[in-house]
Amino acid sequence: MENKNTGSTKPTNFIREIIEEDLRTGKHTKIHTRFPPEPNGYLHIGHTKSICLNFGLAEDYNGLCNLRFDDTNPTKEEIEYVESIKEDIKWLGFDWGDREYYASDYFDQLYEYAIKLIKKGKAYVDSLSGEEIKEYRGAPTEAGKESSYRNRLIEENLDLFERMKAGEFKDGEYVLRAKIDMTSPNMNMRDPIIYRIRHESHHRTGDKWCIYPMYDWAHGQSDSIEGITHSLCTLEFENHRPLYDWFIEALDIYHPQQIEFARLNVSYTVMSKRKLLELVEEGYVNSWDDPRMPTISGLRRRGYTPESIRNFSEKSGIVKRNSVVDLALLEHSIREDLNKKAKRVLSVLNPLKVVIENYPDEKVEELEAINNPEDSSKGTRKLPFAKTIYIEKDDFREDPPKKFFRLAPGKEVRLRYAYIIKCEEVIKDPKTGEVIELRCSYDPETKSGTGSSNKKVKGTIHWVSAEHAIDAEVRLYDRLFTVEDPLGEKDKDFKDFINPDSLEIIKHSKLEPSLSNAEKGERFQFERLGYFCLDSVDASRDRLVFNRIVRLRDSWSKIEKEQQGQK
Ligand code: ATP
Ligand code: MG
Repeated sequence: MENKNTGSTKPTNFIREIIEEDLRTGKHTKIHTRFPPEPNGYLHIGHTKSICLNFGLAEDYNGLCNLRFDDTNPTKEEIEYVESIKEDIKWLGFDWGDREYYASDYFDQLYEYAIKLIKKGKAYVDSLSGEEIKEYRGAPTEAGKESSYRNRLIEENLDLFERMKAGEFKDGEYVLRAKIDMTSPNMNMRDPIIYRIRHESHHRTGDKWCIYPMYDWAHGQSDSIEGITHSLCTLEFENHRPLYDWFIEALDIYHPQQIEFARLNVSYTVMSKRKLLELVEEGYVNSWDDPRMPTISGLRRRGYTPESIRNFSEKSGIVKRNSVVDLALLEHSIREDLNKKAKRVLSVLNPLKVVIENYPDEKVEELEAINNPEDSSKGTRKLPFAKTIYIEKDDFREDPPKKFFRLAPGKEVRLRYAYIIKCEEVIKDPKTGEVIELRCSYDPETKSGTGSSNKKVKGTIHWVSAEHAIDAEVRLYDRLFTVEDPLGEKDKDFKDFINPDSLEIIKHSKLEPSLSNAEKGERFQFERLGYFCLDSVDASRDRLVFNRIVRLRDSWSKIEKEQQGQK
């Protein structure tokens, strides 16, 4: 569906419709959105939905998008998180210009607003304990009870609130609450807390404050201060919207529109920052940027491109009902992107030595290999071929099943870009019986492209020349969880479902020599194996470390089917 106003080819959705209507009717002449992360962890793939939505809409409708750190909570927030969040958004390709804001920048203004509310008789200082406040709130089906302090005089409220700010009281002794309706069916409207006392330093305001605003109080007012036109948030805030609107109306200030959309959930993973922190702190993964993590930094290190993540976010759609998107869609999106971009190379993960007995001892041929058949401008490269090569262990079976079109005793196979070889002899370790070497012959007339023979074989396998190959460590990453919804089982901890095979390290893989020039973060297709990326952290000139981004096909669903078949 083409977008009428912008000519954008992005699919339309209910938020775009609202924006287009607002621009058409002149309610707004320019839209202004914001992305409001709380700096208490690294961004994950779920956040990209909100980032792509907010920054994407601003781009498409020629508006602006602010980056606003929702740093109202003094204990949990850290500067490391602020830096990582900025890096991730930039990497995704979005720009907030000079509009890097912090809710804490508005603490003075928010305090003034609170005084305004008290003066209007719409807020009061409560002396009930936390326990009592909870108890008085009642339940969704049962009305709450008003606090006996609810009708304090305005003067008394102003005095107590000022003394709360001045640090005269201990944590929890008093709170400031909005005076709304203790019988409202919406629990958020039952005199919500606006300010609480916390004698804690804040990463930006230091010890200036010992009262901190609650999220609901800070968020809408920050939107208003920044002139946000459309405040987009996830569905769990739907029943906070009446409160959002109530505050703004009570203060009589500029009124942004809050619009809720469904959270992005992805199968085989968890998204909450708190849960991800648990994985890091308890050592289930190595770091926030562990390539198995659904964090943006983890996906980046794994080898995902910004384009693939943006496409994924776009494809998963903007809807009003929560749903789970299959991880396979994310994997599809990186394959689709790298299929055209990544150079294809030959790499042998688990090498098996093959000696081609009738190939001249000292001869080395330079074979022509195509860098990307989808893009001829990527050109070709030279691939050395010699008497001793390595092939993948899996490409040989002593006792092959039917339709195994690879190498087996007496059988023939084509070596990619080279010749057809035949397995003449299998050499085993006398002690273990393990196959350690194959003796083969080659047919010189079968050279790819130029050979005179028109012999055909069903299988083509990859290989590298033993003397020219370079060594690399290869890390095979797989899904972090074994079940679609690790949080789905009530009596179990999500960590019980961690995939024990989520990381397999192969220390001595053999790669074609052109890979010695790979740059950190550079991505390749290892033919027949998948997409791989030179690790940006652990790789160096003397030590190649590749991460598997994704297999070439969705083998996961196949494995699942096989497992089901066995039961
Ligand atoms: P988490 O539960 O992972 O900590 P959060 O919602 O508390 O997430 P915030 O830093 O408050 O994290 O989120 C910043 C913005 O990103 C918010 O507007 C939030 O609604 C949005 N967001 C967070 N998770 C998702 C998700 N899975 N899908 C879409 N938007 C999300
Ligand atoms: Mg949050």
